[in-house]
Amino acid sequence: MKKRSRPFWFLYALLAVSLPPAAASAAAPPAVCASGPVAAATANASSESTLLLNLFGREETGWLFYVPLIANETHTECPAESPGFAKALAIWQSAHGLPPTGTVGTATLQKLKQVWQAKRTFVVESAHRCPAPPAESALSQAAPAESYGGKQIQLRTEALAAYRNMVAAARKDGVLLNAQLLEIFSAYRSPEYDAERCAEQHNCQGVVRAACSAHRTALAMDVYLGAAPGFGPDSSADINRLFISKTAAYRWMVKNAARFGFVNYAFEPWHWEFVGQKASR
Ligand SMILES: [Zn+2]
Repeated sequence: MKKRSRPFWFLYALLAVSLPPAAASAAAPPAVCASGPVAAATANASSESTLLLNLFGREETGWLFYVPLIANETHTECPAESPGFAKALAIWQSAHGLPPTGTVGTATLQKLKQVWQAKRTFVVESAHRCPAPPAESALSQAAPAESYGGKQIQLRTEALAAYRNMVAAARKDGVLLNAQLLEIFSAYRSPEYDAERCAEQHNCQGVVRAACSAHRTALAMDVYLGAAPGFGPDSSADINRLFISKTAAYRWMVKNAARFGFVNYAFEPWHWEFVGQKASR
């Protein structure tokens, strides 16, 4: 008697029950991602690595680097090339006075930048006047284990406390895959220190560092999130920024840092500022 073979779907059913939910969703995007404007998804798939843009005073090619931030802003888990991503973006565009095309273009990126920058208290304040540095008594010293490369790190006391809560949560969520992740490599820098460094190294970052850096507030920190081979953790080379944008730790930060009061400077994945409750508004 011929042995009856099991239908092919049996294998899938077996896989579905044997895989934990996280592994199953990593293997394939959720079904909801297939639903949405297909033409917009096709346009996004071609522009994500070709669109010429200049959001932060420097030319960039493609918007792939910004995908985690865009996905977080539009409340989607779908891949950038999917109809579901385009659908979520169209809803966001509509809510922000833009034509709901579902495609990522210059006007949409400019609007996203506006929303991101508006959350940075430093940017809002420094448009009027450069914030004064804090009193010495408002500063706390990070522990050696919290500092990248053993540097002296100081933050405002409330920012350091929030940072510690955030690191504990990241550790619990299992995204700190090596011991150095989320260590701080730069925090408070006095205006005098920045002016000196600018003169010495002939590196004034377009005079921003010398004139008025967010680091003078002691609420800004640069955290280690890895680096592309051959690059430093704060190299603004596109290849390095794209590398960092794909790490689990950065993606976790994009989704979770606001709960602890931190917002990102969208151009620099390593740079985070403590703004308190304003972060999640
Ligand atoms: Zn910084």
